[in-house]
This record gives sequence, C-alpha cells and structure tokens, in this order.
Amino acid sequence: MNNSDPAVTPVAATVTRPERVFPTLTSGQVARMAAHGRRRTTTRGEVLVEMGDAAVPVFVVVTGQLQALRPTDKTETLIVNYHPGQFSGEANMISGRHALGRLRVSEAGEVIQLDRDQLLALIQTDAEMSEILMRAFILRRLELIAHDLGDVIVIGSAHSAETLRTKQFLTRNGHPFHYIDLDRDRDAQDVLDRFQVGVTNIPVVICRGDAVLRNPTNAEIADCLGLNEQIDQTRVTDLVIVGGGPAGLAAAVYGSSEGLDVLVLESNVPGGQAGSSSRIENYLGFPTGISGLDLTGRAYAQALKFGAHVIVARGATRLGCDGQHYTGESDGGSRIRTRSVIVATGAEYRKPTLANLSTFEGAGVYYGATPTEAQLCVGQEVAVVGGGNAAGQAAVFLASTARRVHMVVRGPGLAETMSQYLIRRIEENDAIVLHTRTQIVSLDGVAKLERIRWRNDQTGEIEDHDIGHLFIMTGAVPNTRWLDGCVVLDEKGFVKTGPDLSPVDLAAARWPLGRPPYLLETSRPGIFAVGDVRRGNVKRVASAVGEGSIAVAFVHQVLRQDG
Ligand SMILES: Cc1cc2nc3c(=O)[nH]c(=O)nc-3n(C[C@H](O)[C@H](O)[C@H](O)COP(=O)(O)OP(=O)(O)OC[C@H]3O[C@@H](n4cnc5c(N)ncnc54)[C@H](O)[C@@H]3O)c2cc1C
Repeated sequence: MNNSDPAVTPVAATVTRPERVFPTLTSGQVARMAAHGRRRTTTRGEVLVEMGDAAVPVFVVVTGQLQALRPTDKTETLIVNYHPGQFSGEANMISGRHALGRLRVSEAGEVIQLDRDQLLALIQTDAEMSEILMRAFILRRLELIAHDLGDVIVIGSAHSAETLRTKQFLTRNGHPFHYIDLDRDRDAQDVLDRFQVGVTNIPVVICRGDAVLRNPTNAEIADCLGLNEQIDQTRVTDLVIVGGGPAGLAAAVYGSSEGLDVLVLESNVPGGQAGSSSRIENYLGFPTGISGLDLTGRAYAQALKFGAHVIVARGATRLGCDGQHYTGESDGGSRIRTRSVIVATGAEYRKPTLANLSTFEGAGVYYGATPTEAQLCVGQEVAVVGGGNAAGQAAVFLASTARRVHMVVRGPGLAETMSQYLIRRIEENDAIVLHTRTQIVSLDGVAKLERIRWRNDQTGEIEDHDIGHLFIMTGAVPNTRWLDGCVVLDEKGFVKTGPDLSPVDLAAARWPLGRPPYLLETSRPGIFAVGDVRRGNVKRVASAVGEGSIAVAFVHQVLRQDG
C-alpha cells in the first residue's frame, strides 16, 4: 500500500516544527538505539502494531518505510510515513497504554525493535536520546489531540455537567478524543433519540471504536481505554503514593528515579488542584507562567518515564496500619501491601451553602478556570467568588475572553488575602468589577445556571444578574477521611507530621520507635504526608513539589532501617 491508495486519506499536513516531531536520527544515534534493541527484517504489508495493542514496541527504520495509520471502518487515514533514521511511537510508549493507531510496513526493509522495558532503560541512561524521544512522543500526542485522532468519541452537551467531567477527564489524561456537540449536530441527536438515549445517559462515549458507554464514570472510561495496568496484589511495594497532585507526582519522580518500586493511586486524574489552574505564574523557572495542565502533564510523563506505576480514577478508600506492612485499599477492591506510604491527597474545594449548588456543578458552576471552562463563556458575563490568589488568577484569566468578570468577595477588600501583583492586575483591568462585602444568596436556572442573586452585607441591597457562569474559588478542606484513625490529624483534619506531633499525640498513637518522627513523617513510622493535606503546608505548587521530593529521602532511610 502507498500514499496514493484510494483507501488511505492523508491527515491535514499542519504539523509545526516537523524536525522536532519526526526527527531523523544520525547513524551514531541509531547505533545507540540498536544497542538496546534487536534488528529484524520487515515485509511489505506487515502490520507491526495494531490499534488497541498493549505494550507497544518502538521501531527505528534502518531501510524501507513504515506508515502510521488511523483505521476507521473501511478506510485508513495516513498520519505519517517513517523513513530511514526515523522512529515510530508516541506518548503511549512511555505510559505503556494501548496503541491509538496502526503501524504498517509500506516498503520492505530492516528495523530496530525496542520493547517498552528496553526503551525505558535507554531513556533513563542516555540523556540525549531521552530528550529527542520524549520531546517527539509528547509533541506527537499533542498533534493527535489537535487533529482529534484518538480512539474515543464523546457525544454530549455544553449544558451537561457529566459531559464537562468526561471531557476534563480525557483532556487531563492527555487522551485525544473527538467531540460531537448535540446542541449543534441535529443528526447525532436523532441517532441518540432512535436508540432511546435520554438526557440522563449523556454523554455517550464510544470507546476504542466499539464499546458504547452511557454516561460512564471516570473509572469505567479508564477501564475501557486500558489506562490502568493490573495491580499485583501479591507484591509488597516499596512506596505507595496516594494522590497524584504536584506533591504526589514529585514524590513519584524522585522515588522512581532513585530506584524505588513506586505505585501512585489517584482517585481522579493526575495534576490535582494545580492541574485545574489556568496559569501558574510563581513557579520557579517559568518567567512567563505555565498552565497547570502543562506543568502537571510534564510531571506525569516524567514519573512514567522513570518507571512509576500510576493508577488513575481509583482512589484509596482505606489504609490498614496494623501488621508488618501497610495495606492500601482502593476503589474496586484492590489491596496493595507496601513498606512505606506518602499521603498526598491534597484538599477539596470549600463550597458555599446554596440550596441547588450541586444541580449546576459543571452546568454553570465551576471550581477551576482552565481553557475548557473559559471556552464556554467567551463574550459573556461571569462571576468569580473568593478573595484569594486562585480567585484573582481566575478573574484575570477569564477577563481575557469574557465580556465582564464580577469578583464577589465577602471581606472588605483583597489586600489581606491576595498577592499584590494580582491586586494590581485586577485594578487595572476594566473588564473586572469588584463587589466587596458581598455574597451569593441564590442560583437559578432550568437545565443550567441562568441567574445569580447576590447581597451586599453592608447595605442589604440585593442584585439579580443574568449570569450563567459562576466560578467558586473559596479554598479547600483536606482529603483525609479515608485515613480513618490511622494517623493523627489536627482539629481541621490536616495530617500532623514531624515536629507538629506533640509527646501526647505520639503517646496516643503508640509511636513504637526510640527516634522521633522524621520531618514530614506522621504518627506512624514510614507513613509520610506532603503538600496541601499536611498541617502547616503553605498551599503552593513549589512547596508541594519540595515536600514530595524531601519525603522520598526519608523513605529511603525508613526502608534501610526496615532491612
Ligand atoms: C485554581 C487554582 C489555582 C492555583 N494557582 C496556584 C499558583 O498559581 N501558584 C501556586 O503555587 N499554587 C497555586 N494553587 C495551589 C496549588 O495548586 C496547590 O497548593 C497544590 O496543587 C497542592 O498540591 P498537592 O499535591 O498537595 O494537592 P492537590 O493538588 O490537591 O492534589 C491531591 C490529589 O490527590 C487526589 N486524591 C484525593 N483523595 C484521594 C484518595 N483518597 N485516593 C487517591 N487520590 C486522592 C486528588 O484527586 C488530587 O489529584 C492553585 C490552586 C487552585 C485550585
């Protein structure tokens, strides 16, 4: 088969910087790849990778040519031709997930084949090849996302909270999908009507070309797409990290790069709160800022590159603290035995008490302001509740596309709760209107949020506004319920660690060792807490990352003492 074959349609050639996305290796670089893999001949028409295959190898073309294709029912879309010196593959080479396309030999010749373990060994030891391969794999995944060339179709509505959740889950997992909006595509609506798919079954997710899921949970989507590997329940892991926000991902990167056997359990998607931040401007090394999705997406790829196992959409439901090893239990009933634990479960958004708040969550009420939400309110009026940095960032970000942003703040001003640089930006932005000493009193709408009422607590004046988008950015409470008496918490539920643990705390917890707990160690030896979940944490990405990496140093000490 060749490019002119009528069944093969080429994808739009809009790849930017093709030399970085599809680099041609020098003979020396090919030889370094060959040292980790094996040479084999290929025959024309041979399928080296089929869509949906697990544990896909990477191929370097020595002679001949390969084609990356996206098969549909009867046709194939040509994604790219690989010539001598070029290599196949994209981000799933690192994650070990299923192939999103087909790889076929279009001209017979010779290739070098590296299986995933061989590839991981290469990129962990060869910095130059690691950079070339990682960059190409990530850029190729971005191209697949840009061209909707995934194996998932989401059919939903902009007014459905579940559609937003599903799109966010796929986006934050970096999984390409094609979206069909029922509000614009009457044909799709007719098809769903014929199959009696009602409003409560929205969105419909067509997964890997065949399985049709009606309003699936994140866990069901993860299972269908094979995002998670099987947990080996017989093994005792060196380190289980609970939570895949910045703190957990940092611990995963340091732990796995330093040779520990690391398993991360994440109840939703990696990235945590930071992943929902539109722009993080104060993280060291990014003078122009970086979106939370980009920062945490890179950290996730880095953890996988070093061999950490990351399970998504499966949270820890319990921690067993008795016995020689700790036992983490996850949704779905898996039990994981481990010699050490890092608790990095962060915090959850604090919600105002409004009667019908949950009705509008995702259908006009949001807890993060990322490009996904911003797209929904282009040219419209929005309200942001909160006076902290997260609220300030959201207001500034939304003001770049929304017609007007109302900041609703209970306090007398922003000075005590927000960084000066943000206050200045808000004051200088004509699109942002600040309402101090004000709180939201009711929400109204039929299928989605349509009206907001707020009250000025000083004057008692009530105002109604036709606003369909409300961003609630009012802080968070710690995710520690699952720890169920295992470690000492403070009065607000944050985990106490190191010097915060008083002799009374340690006596009550029956601390068994002669030494006091290490910095970041909880009232149980070998269980650490890092990031926003920890009492006294300063609620910054940098401190979460710092704590995640420091805790790993103490994990090594505990494991050494453990023998
Ligand atoms: C909108 C927004 C903007 C922000 N902007 C900035 C900024 O510009 N600069 C800055 O420094 N900080 C910023 N922050 C704060 C920063 O994001 C947090 O301090 C940081 O994310 C904390 O990291 P963490 O890993 O401790 O917790 P989190 O980010 O909260 O991550 C915790 C993770 O644990 C998971 N989890 C919870 N329970 C379980 C369970 N039982 N099992 C498994 N997994 C579980 C959650 O799903 C989550 O992914 C912002 C926060 C928000 C919300």
